[in-house]
Amino acid sequence: MGKVAINIATGSLLKEEIIVGIDLGTTNSLIAIVRTDTHQPIALKEIDGLTLVPSIVHFDEHGNTTVGNPAKELLIAQPERTIYSVKRLMGKSYKDVSRDAGFFAYNIIDDDTDALVKIQVGDRYYSPIELSSYILKELKKRAEHILKTTISKAVITVPAYFSDAQRQATRDAGRLAGLDVLRIINEPTAASLAYGLGAKHGEEKTIAVYDLGGGTFDISILTISNGIFEVLATNGDTYLGGDDMDNAVAAYWNKDRALWSDEGAKALRQEVRMTAEQAKKHLTNNESFEGEINGCKVTLTRAEFNGLIQPLVDRTITACANALRDAGLQVSQIDEVVMVGGSTRTPLVKESVQKFFGRAVHDELNPDEVVALGAAVQADILAGNNTEMLLLDVTPLSLGIETMGGLMDVLIPRNSKIPNKAGRQYTTQKDGQGSMRISVFQGERDLVKDNRKLSEFNLTGIPGMPAGMAKVDVTFLIDADGILKVSAKELRSGVAQSIEVKPQYGLTDEEVEQMLLDSLTHAKDDIKTRALVEAATEARQMLDTTEKFLAKHREFLTEEEITMTADQMRLLQEAIDAQDKDRIHHATETLNDISRPYAERVMDAALKDAMRGKKVI
Ligand code: ADP
Ligand code: MG
Repeated sequence: MGKVAINIATGSLLKEEIIVGIDLGTTNSLIAIVRTDTHQPIALKEIDGLTLVPSIVHFDEHGNTTVGNPAKELLIAQPERTIYSVKRLMGKSYKDVSRDAGFFAYNIIDDDTDALVKIQVGDRYYSPIELSSYILKELKKRAEHILKTTISKAVITVPAYFSDAQRQATRDAGRLAGLDVLRIINEPTAASLAYGLGAKHGEEKTIAVYDLGGGTFDISILTISNGIFEVLATNGDTYLGGDDMDNAVAAYWNKDRALWSDEGAKALRQEVRMTAEQAKKHLTNNESFEGEINGCKVTLTRAEFNGLIQPLVDRTITACANALRDAGLQVSQIDEVVMVGGSTRTPLVKESVQKFFGRAVHDELNPDEVVALGAAVQADILAGNNTEMLLLDVTPLSLGIETMGGLMDVLIPRNSKIPNKAGRQYTTQKDGQGSMRISVFQGERDLVKDNRKLSEFNLTGIPGMPAGMAKVDVTFLIDADGILKVSAKELRSGVAQSIEVKPQYGLTDEEVEQMLLDSLTHAKDDIKTRALVEAATEARQMLDTTEKFLAKHREFLTEEEITMTADQMRLLQEAIDAQDKDRIHHATETLNDISRPYAERVMDAALKDAMRGKKVI
């Protein structure tokens, strides 16, 4: 519960607490609010006049952190202690990012490829969630300093293509920073909100959001009708942005000055890149640039620069065409084009986008602030100050479960509206099958092994029945944040269970706290422990079911069967006590095999009973 205050003048209740909007960016992050007096969103400025906080965290030898511009300055001197682009690692395993490992100058741990990535700084290990939480903490601190009040509630934005695991990770980072994350919203949706597009009742618009940041490019096609947002398609390139422009300029200058490419001159190379960025920004408003690196004069004209970046810009335009095709739309059907990201300040970018869409683009708001401003508008809606709008997004990837032969069975196809619910019925493959493994995957390939596993659980306690008799309802529920909940229920038996799961890389409350204490070695043990706990839980359920079954149906069993069952139950209990996962699995299977014949017998008898005196239609 938030605190409330009374407005002395009017006698009305005031919500004391402001909900902030946060753009947690790959390159820069910032925080915004909707002003209570003007009802306009504004990005919060520190005394330094800057709104952007570079998404960079530096650690000193004692593990103390510095965030933002001071950390950015240490990128050159201490690359292994200065963490950038952590957003790229959110909710990912090493396997997910191994292809891009060369991109990072710091140390990403690679000895357990399936676990969440960890970053090593000195002798400490950090998860991307922790690292992001440092950035969020810094933003929170700044906002509290500027607004002179505590901040504990926020809306945070993520790219439209972020998976459940990545959204959950972002949410966890917020919680770790002491923020109650009321909503995770898509960046293009936020940008549209900042421009108030579709805010009027009865308005229907199709919008293209072109977002060129520091290292990533995203194009999203949305529709807004009656205040409801829907993402029709997303496209882009996760390694294309302003940094590539800087690199192109640096390479251009390097061509006639071979000394800069000298391997040892790391700091010098970094200086070249910094000057290149300076030149790029200068050329946004000027026709030519002159600078100096290490005593050498460097120059660049707007025309030269345009020539260098033309291929990069062309790639973004191709992605725009692909997004339109995916959305099934013509260029002429786009009503508004919104420019997002610092790199859209570059004149060639703006001109090219205008030309492609054949219309003037929205660039009235600062492109590097627009996402945070929109998040603030959403926060304002959640605070109850704006009841006009509702947000609806789509799933970026298909969601489904593994069926026989390792096939992916899609329950919610990609680009489905969020929130969403879908269900399908499945049955058992084997006679007397007591449990069913539900493995949840995300992706577009036919075989689950090519997709990404989100989670897995066992529906246990299915009473023995012939194969194909059990009716298992599997339900997928995606909430407004895009977080998935899966439940399974056996209908025929009435002894149904339903289970809720979170994405594999998402974390429970307890796990987040635990994570702070755990090093990588512990993380490995955690996985083993979890597997053991799961096996033991399943085994205990099996013991329980069998015991109940025996109590009820003893007369159907031979003496030998009773002895065999009792012996096996004892063995299973011993395996549980010994905490031996493989032994537990094996003993559970064996108990299943022993009980199958008499379980079927009981089933047959029950069926005969049910048929007696009844007409068969
Ligand atoms: P992200 O969304 O990736 O966090 P931003 O939207 O903040 O990033 O964009 C950062 C990029 O914008 C950087 O590459 C920066 O050099 C570039 N940028 C900032 N100002 C300008 C400018 N005036 N002209 C051209 N590029 C700019
Ligand atoms: Mg951005």
